[in-house]
Amino acid sequence: MRILPFLLASTLMAASGEPRVPADPLRLKATISYADMEAFLEKVARPGFITVTEEGRSVEGRAIRLVRLNRGGAKARFKAFFYAQQHGNEISGKDAQLCLIRAIADKPALLPEDVDLYLMPMVNPDGAEARRRTNGALADLNRDHIRLLQPETRALHAVARRILPHLAVDSHEFTRDGKDWDAKGWDCWPLITMDALNAPWIPAALRKEALARVESARPVMARAGYAYTRYTVGGLPPLDEIRPSTTEVDDGRNSLGSMGILSFIIEAGTRRQPGAPQDLPARADAFTRLYRHLLGTAASRRKVASLCEAARREPIPPYLPTNFFWANLDGKAPLVKVTERATGKVLEIPSPGLMTDLVVKGSVATPRAYVIDAAAAGVFKALLDRHGIRYVQAGAAPLQAERCRLLRVEEGYDDLYGRYENRQIVARDPAAGHTFPEGSLLVPLDQPLARSAIGILEPCLLYGLYSYQDFRTLALPDGTLPVWRVL
Ligand SMILES: [Zn+2]
Repeated sequence: MRILPFLLASTLMAASGEPRVPADPLRLKATISYADMEAFLEKVARPGFITVTEEGRSVEGRAIRLVRLNRGGAKARFKAFFYAQQHGNEISGKDAQLCLIRAIADKPALLPEDVDLYLMPMVNPDGAEARRRTNGALADLNRDHIRLLQPETRALHAVARRILPHLAVDSHEFTRDGKDWDAKGWDCWPLITMDALNAPWIPAALRKEALARVESARPVMARAGYAYTRYTVGGLPPLDEIRPSTTEVDDGRNSLGSMGILSFIIEAGTRRQPGAPQDLPARADAFTRLYRHLLGTAASRRKVASLCEAARREPIPPYLPTNFFWANLDGKAPLVKVTERATGKVLEIPSPGLMTDLVVKGSVATPRAYVIDAAAAGVFKALLDRHGIRYVQAGAAPLQAERCRLLRVEEGYDDLYGRYENRQIVARDPAAGHTFPEGSLLVPLDQPLARSAIGILEPCLLYGLYSYQDFRTLALPDGTLPVWRVL
């Protein structure tokens, strides 16, 4: 972490005389570049109020900035962390955050005294400069939250663990006018969408509160005139599968949520076809309104803070879902809105493909701990260190442990279940006394980051570490995996 030197900023005004970073996102002239962001942050920093730090360097050496806004000192007990632009070509969340910084700098009373606000507006500056999704190593950062191989995601996680916020919000964009929509003569209806943490071992109270916030944003956005709904992924109504965000933990939302943080993703809809109407100011304004909605009132912040603190203390349940997916339990046909491109009319299409019920198809007994065989200890030490997860040497006494064997990895997309590629199919041997060689690691689950450890280490998860080639090669020729389950 390094405090920015206070340098002269010369490029803050665009040719028109409008600031490049206006307080009001509706006055945005264009998206803000890395260079303009750097110049703006140098100028806006104020000791004791707006602090700008460097939290790491991107693959190509650009600074990853964190901006802290705090005017209440120790009174600012509610910690919120908004981050954006993990995907370099998804711009409006970053623009919204920079406008928010300017607005608070101009009018400090906009920031409640009980809020300690942290913003990382541009997680992926290399991708932003190159106008592409991936970082300088061509990695998709929002698929790097299990392995943390990239410096940008490591910086993000280090910040999240250091400040341990009560609220975290990731910021993305999706495409409203893709080819499949074009063929139907439709546009995807919402301008902006939001969803929340949903990995099934995150305490239910946190998941319930988060989903309630997603729902209670509907009237707020309707009043502002922005088309808003819960964020879904998938195909077209009525019959393609359309479902909420992935339940896996390889993204920012669920990996931060696993730390006991009320965690969200906002996705604004952009049009990418040539000649399509552009609406960056509206997208950025809609982002700002959702950020404010999530910050809530002093009373709601106290409630969220106590929910998070309870979630961090809550014991892990006795059984862990390992195979779960979204389904439509009774074949109902909820309405999905689309916009008819020729007329601008909003159509409501009854769509049995909309799947919002989370179904658990398989579970395992929760282990007391995981043991990592000495042969793979080096790789796993590095992985656990990147996540701040505690481990000790396994010791010489035998442990009741289940050996897990990788039977196969199913590479293709599963059309029947509508599931992703790279499912890891793992069998368990019955628990038996096993003595682990010297140098083996024990990862206990009575630690603060136990839920993060489960998401990363549990071998029986249908989508886990062995979905990735670099960990798959750690299996022995008979399939034995390096991580054992201690009962
Ligand atoms: Zn994205």
